[in-house]
Amino acid sequence: MSEVFGLTAADLAHRLGAGEISSVEATQAHLDRIAAVEEEIHAFLNVNTDEALAAAADVDARRGRGEDLPELAGVPVAVKDLVVTRGQVTTAGSRMLQGWVPPYDATIVQKLRAAGMPILGKTNMDEFAMGSSTEHSAFGPTRNPWDTSRIPGGSGGGSAAAVAAFQAPLAVGTDTGGSIRQPAAVTGTVGVKPTYGSVSRYGLVALASSLDQAGPCARTVLDAALLHDVIAGHDPLDATSLPEPAQPYADAARAGAANADLTGLRVGVVRELGGEGYHQGVRDRFTESLDLLVAAGAEVVEVSCPHFDAALAAYYLILPSEASSNLARFDGMRYGLRVEPSEGPVTAERVMAATRGAGFGAEAKRRIILGTYALSAGHYDAYYGSAQKVRTLIQRDFAAAFEQVDVLVSPTTPTTAFRLGEKVDDPMAMYLNDVATIPANLAGIPAMSLPSGLAEDDLPAGFQILAPARADASLYRVGAALEAHQLSAWGGPLIDRIRSVEAGA
Ligand code: GLN
Repeated sequence: MSEVFGLTAADLAHRLGAGEISSVEATQAHLDRIAAVEEEIHAFLNVNTDEALAAAADVDARRGRGEDLPELAGVPVAVKDLVVTRGQVTTAGSRMLQGWVPPYDATIVQKLRAAGMPILGKTNMDEFAMGSSTEHSAFGPTRNPWDTSRIPGGSGGGSAAAVAAFQAPLAVGTDTGGSIRQPAAVTGTVGVKPTYGSVSRYGLVALASSLDQAGPCARTVLDAALLHDVIAGHDPLDATSLPEPAQPYADAARAGAANADLTGLRVGVVRELGGEGYHQGVRDRFTESLDLLVAAGAEVVEVSCPHFDAALAAYYLILPSEASSNLARFDGMRYGLRVEPSEGPVTAERVMAATRGAGFGAEAKRRIILGTYALSAGHYDAYYGSAQKVRTLIQRDFAAAFEQVDVLVSPTTPTTAFRLGEKVDDPMAMYLNDVATIPANLAGIPAMSLPSGLAEDDLPAGFQILAPARADASLYRVGAALEAHQLSAWGGPLIDRIRSVEAGA
């Protein structure tokens, strides 16, 4: 992949720094790529051509004046449409917010702007980040660049597809139950859910506040680390923000790639995240990457996390409960959509009902009803209360496991990308995609998905690495080392084998 849009963010940053290319050229190359393949992929809800080029020109001018610029200055980025951007429409994939222009920037957007990164546009997603396929977007699904008849994962399928289709070198995603990692797995890219509280949630449209976390989507481990370095850090505007400064993740990734010897590293394979429900191809690729870790000197043991079997059920009570409360703000009164009843009196309650009836899609309504029920006086203890207890047991499982090993590993998802339409009308089948990603959110720990190869259906499978809270740097060190061994085993980056969208290039 010799075109500008084929460069990694790290390479692009290097060329920008060396004056070999301007940010305007780099940004234009990605805008051209978007124009060429977007009709097929539909990764974006909104492309901000003028603003991206203006930001690029500004960086070029500052570089021309000899200013000392951040490492990623001039490297364009795409942002999930759950993240509010001042002056740019932010919809969260919902009719409820169609056309809404936020009056402020999320903290992470401020950080991207301060880093000199032109924002190419806002990426498609399942409505309010509820889903695993982007088919719940009010604006039509995104398609997987490896095979456009298949889903790109969700909810952040737009961010993952944009990166996989070379429309953007980097993208920001959010992960409440896997929405960064599951799309990364099925698009052959790298996605990281940081430690809860380490990246600001200020300015994210809230889904489930105790689980939501923004993070990087990229094509390489180092690129993910570079973006993670930009967006992480304490934020007084987020009450759950961790007080300590972020660690240098790119340094950890570079160290892992430079010295891929993993002697002394203890790796735990989670017994409950594997086995029968997982497709053979996904398991085979997982085992191969595990073998690479062993060959690199790591000691691999099996560990059991017995309560993980209840994680999915607990998550699908806790998430709807929090979502039903967070989504109460969409009432037709404050901002966003307002629908008046077609007949009869225009009372507040009737406007609210008409607005919510018209504005929310089926999955959002399903979860609001479920969450309201789980929180109701007569059922709170039986549902929400029990789910919170399970959450504590899962945290204890992780704590016990991390006494034995440094990192845990599993396949990221049970299957490769399924076909569009295959599961959209079957909520349970859709929810089961999240079985391996949800425990990390319930415990607040960091996790990464990186490619493990192509399964027998020629579609990418994902390898998940989990680390203790605040040990995000371990993900980058181990992930970069594994990636280095994979590259020599595979003879080059997997992502360069992407074929289906080349016709549009
Ligand atoms: N698939 C998960 C869900 O539908 C993902 C949520 C998320 O991470 N935003 O809840």
